[in-house]
Amino acid sequence: MDLGIRGKRALVCASSKGLGKGCAEALAEAGVDLVLNARGAEALEATAAAIRARHNVNVTAIAADITTDEGRDRVLQAAGAVDILVTNAGGPPPGMWSDWTRDDFIRALDANMLTPIALMKALLPGMIERKWGRVVNITSQSVKAPIAVLGLSNSARAGLTGYVAGTSRQVAPFGVTINNLLPGIHATDRATSLDQGVMKAEGIGMEEARARREATIPARRYGDPAEFGAACAFLCSQKAGFIVGQNILLDGGQTLATL
Ligand code: NAP
Repeated sequence: MDLGIRGKRALVCASSKGLGKGCAEALAEAGVDLVLNARGAEALEATAAAIRARHNVNVTAIAADITTDEGRDRVLQAAGAVDILVTNAGGPPPGMWSDWTRDDFIRALDANMLTPIALMKALLPGMIERKWGRVVNITSQSVKAPIAVLGLSNSARAGLTGYVAGTSRQVAPFGVTINNLLPGIHATDRATSLDQGVMKAEGIGMEEARARREATIPARRYGDPAEFGAACAFLCSQKAGFIVGQNILLDGGQTLATL
């Protein structure tokens, strides 16, 4: 399917690995020029070079922490006028409700709520002026059904979801859509580190930890970052202009809900 976005320009945050990288790859396959970002320069440059070679699109790589004012300023400066924004950052650590301090909450809110909001505030005016834009926020399945040990994530992402629910309706008249993609368990470094947590807590091996988590997913496997990226590219496409303010689960059926 031709997604109709060849020649557009996208900023994909936190995209040297995992789900962000999956989104970058899929957008590049659709002919979109990219600005990529991550903190570690080495993996970021390697990802940028591989995407350039495979898809023959322009790729700019900015090594910066997207959750800091300074990092965001450098990324936005390099990005300039973009048509597509994919927000993403690392997720907060797991823990126990009674241990989280105010500082822990501020860090989680900064990374997973206020950073995407700051990026949207910076880039939406240009999209509105040009009468076309797409924003996809990578959030989490925990927005629909809480993951108890990820209380910091549950809280921060719920805040972002509320912001998107209203803002998406305010920008839709200008040809700009905002939607959220809610990943369930995908095979990325983040999933491996959560598996390691299960290993430690249960005193089992890695294979067993993974098998136990796979058994909780009706599709009986972890998601693939490439299929996550394909869904993101579709939401960013010309075809998806009537999808506004939605929260789309990609979780292999794990969240037990009728709607
Ligand atoms: P991942 O495989 O660990 O990749 C994270 C990517 O983000 C890396 O490229 C990393 O590079 C970059 N990054 C992290 N913090 C950053 C920062 N402050 N500034 C800029 N770049 C940053 O993680 P993932 O599995 O793709 O997860 C992406 C998001 O989806 C996370 O918020 C996660 O909580 C959420 N999620 C994931 C799953 C899953 O199963 N994978 C499920 C639900 C939700 P550097 O470390 O070099 O910066």
